Amino acid sequence: MSLQPVVQRIAPQSGTAFRMRASQTLVVIDLEGEQVADLYAFADGDRAESLSSGRSLDYAETIYLTTGHTLYSNRSRPMFTIVEDTVGRHDFLLTPCSQETFSIIYKENAPHPSCFANLRDAFAAFNIAADTIGTTFNIFMNVALEADGSFTVRPPLSKADDRIVFRAEMDLIVGLTACSAEMSNNYSFKPIAFSIKPAFH
Ligand SMILES: [Zn+2]
Repeated sequence: MSLQPVVQRIAPQSGTAFRMRASQTLVVIDLEGEQVADLYAFADGDRAESLSSGRSLDYAETIYLTTGHTLYSNRSRPMFTIVEDTVGRHDFLLTPCSQETFSIIYKENAPHPSCFANLRDAFAAFNIAADTIGTTFNIFMNVALEADGSFTVRPPLSKADDRIVFRAEMDLIVGLTACSAEMSNNYSFKPIAFSIKPAFH
């Protein structure tokens, strides 16, 4: 039996959801560079427990989480630990892009793929309701803050084959996208790769 993890590919502007067991690791790879991937998670077994940006940033005392930082649930239990990060710039302030994001910010009312819709559809397979999806950990998203509190979304700092690795600290249902927002991805949509190790669970 091969223990090599299977590398899976998320097509541009799409998403997926999957289970992870505690102690497994999730490797997320930016295949081509400058591509954001939104991550959200629920505790497997009690979906009322979910990823919390506010708790995680509070306990880390920084908005820029990287290697060694913990992503906490709304119940202040560790969900993930970041064990490797070749980029060091991700966002945990902003919600996943949605149809409304494009109409409110960009005045675009035409149907537009979005991380929120992709997460909603992927989590629906696990009977998780859309309204329970909170602030995503936006892998590779580069949000630059100014001293006056304003911020701008800049191109990701990630280059081809850059990666971030998360260790699951509890059994999880995880959603992951290849982001659909123009500005977040320097105006081109690329795939995202991921693998779960060990793969034999
Ligand atoms: Zn997005």
